[in-house]
Amino acid sequence: MKLTLMGNEAIAWGLIHSNTQMVSGYPGTPSSEILTTVQKIKDSKNLPVYAQWATNEKVGFEVAYAGAIAGVNAAATMKQVGLNVASDALMSASFIGNKGAFVLIVADDPGFNSSQTEQDSREFARFARIPVLDPATPAEAYEFTKLASEISKKFEIPVMLRSVMRVSHSREIVEIDDNFEFKEQKGNFQRDIPRWAAVPREGRLKQAYEQLERIEAIKKYNYENLIKSKIDKLKGTKNLIISSGAAYGYAKEVVDELNLDVDILKIDMPYPLPDELKELVKNYEKVLVVEETYPVIEEELRSENVFGRMSGHIHLVDEMNKERVLEAYKKIGFYEGENIYKPYFKVEDVNQRKPNLCPGCPHRDVFFAIKKVFRPKKSIYPSDIGCYTLGINLEAIDTVLCMGASVSMAHGLSIADKEKTVIATIGDSTFFHGGIPPLINAVYQKAKFILVILDNSTVAMTGRQTTPERENPQVDLKKVAEGCGAEVMEYFYKPDINETIEFFKKVKKRYQEIDKPLVVISRQYCVLDKERAKDFLPGIFATVDEEKCVACDVCTTQFVCPPMHYNERGKIEIDPLLCIGCGVCISGICPTDAFIPRREK
Ligand code: SF4
Ligand code: SF4
Repeated sequence: MKLTLMGNEAIAWGLIHSNTQMVSGYPGTPSSEILTTVQKIKDSKNLPVYAQWATNEKVGFEVAYAGAIAGVNAAATMKQVGLNVASDALMSASFIGNKGAFVLIVADDPGFNSSQTEQDSREFARFARIPVLDPATPAEAYEFTKLASEISKKFEIPVMLRSVMRVSHSREIVEIDDNFEFKEQKGNFQRDIPRWAAVPREGRLKQAYEQLERIEAIKKYNYENLIKSKIDKLKGTKNLIISSGAAYGYAKEVVDELNLDVDILKIDMPYPLPDELKELVKNYEKVLVVEETYPVIEEELRSENVFGRMSGHIHLVDEMNKERVLEAYKKIGFYEGENIYKPYFKVEDVNQRKPNLCPGCPHRDVFFAIKKVFRPKKSIYPSDIGCYTLGINLEAIDTVLCMGASVSMAHGLSIADKEKTVIATIGDSTFFHGGIPPLINAVYQKAKFILVILDNSTVAMTGRQTTPERENPQVDLKKVAEGCGAEVMEYFYKPDINETIEFFKKVKKRYQEIDKPLVVISRQYCVLDKERAKDFLPGIFATVDEEKCVACDVCTTQFVCPPMHYNERGKIEIDPLLCIGCGVCISGICPTDAFIPRREK
């Protein structure tokens, strides 16, 4: 059967078609659609599959991995920075192995399109000594998912499927298995304490040697099954290009379009690489490795005639593209002609607006009120990972590090700079993900700062996945924060900036009276939550009285709602197509009251 699938959807089908019965993980662009698609397939076909979001990647990894040691096929999904969170579990799991298949799916984000760092998860596979498959297209993503499951089961080892944004989010017609019948497996945990209990030394040395032996066996597998037939087809030219994953697409297209007389070899499993590949490299004058993002293959093949990122022939940061590949071919001497990929325009030539919170987003008002009540000169604003990170554009955020770090950094900053009030912001999902342990830490160490939990009841930025409290109200955010020992104030947001400012004045007063962390929970649904948003949006659309606007910039630098822009007369204008009718700007952000309700003609 042929389906037009996005890479992430293809991975989901690959999981179903390899009888994967447990899938867990945490959403993060570019990986989020994998688990949601598994949920859709499971529901539409009524399959006995567990497919649930976890509170964070480490938890998701461990839930799924437990399934794999009990003998069922399982998978965990996450983005590259999520693997940092799950890496503790990965290092032990790679040592201990599994019974059922365990596929670790990690989607990388070369070019930082929606991440703090680029990272190359293949490095983590190498670090953990587990094999990694690197698909170049959605069709390969489907096939490689099944292959990863097969290899995992055969060698009883977690196998990583590393995707990148251009594979996860591109679409292709994919041939998927017809008449597949899902076979339910019964978990049957076999007690084997020396194997499954990762305690120090006793038994661990043996497992360490087994891990090394396993990697040697997988090298052979890689050569026999994935590389040998390709080597046999090489023409035997002077120079060789080695490539893998999405980078292969660019490398191959440029070779074809420039008609270069070079051999090109695609690597499907960049780690572990067989010794035969190192032998092959010796037959060539120059070998250029085109890979994304780190020099993983290049380092493995290290030799005087191997070039790439480490030798300075390929750029070190940012995504691959055909122009960059052509530049590398020029530098190494594979091509001497013109650059045929010159862009029609430079990105810098296009007027760019900064990324911004949605029109009508309740977070905007909270940031505005925080800055009014806790003045920037006397405050520090640590924040976290989520859509509210866009508050950086409102100058309401000073630091962003990683999931949950707003809380621990608020703690640290409150010690380091006692003159200022630290008021941190974090989302509800991020608080559950990584914010609870640092809050406990802060309470037990008697730290003093304000933590504002922006509860919009969804993981908004990655596609509105559900959060623990929304899925099950027994997980009560307020009770959790109180259970950590913090004092909690709750605010049910209203689209009236004066009310929000008044609430934060009360927060300030209470904060001065207590001697512990003060948690504020600001509750309101995301404006993209169509079913709920209509209940709090009053439908008051704004326009501007040009007589009153004195071009003071408050609305465009402090509040920054996307429909607001200067017109050719130097006055603020509201784009009626973008205004969502929250009415907040009318409620008092302009010092001259220039915003007025729009009357329909
Ligand atoms: S805040 Fe009011 S006066 Fe200032 S630029 Fe905006 S509309 Fe004009
Ligand atoms: S009413 Fe004002 S604040 Fe609300 S969406 Fe429209 S322009 Fe933005």
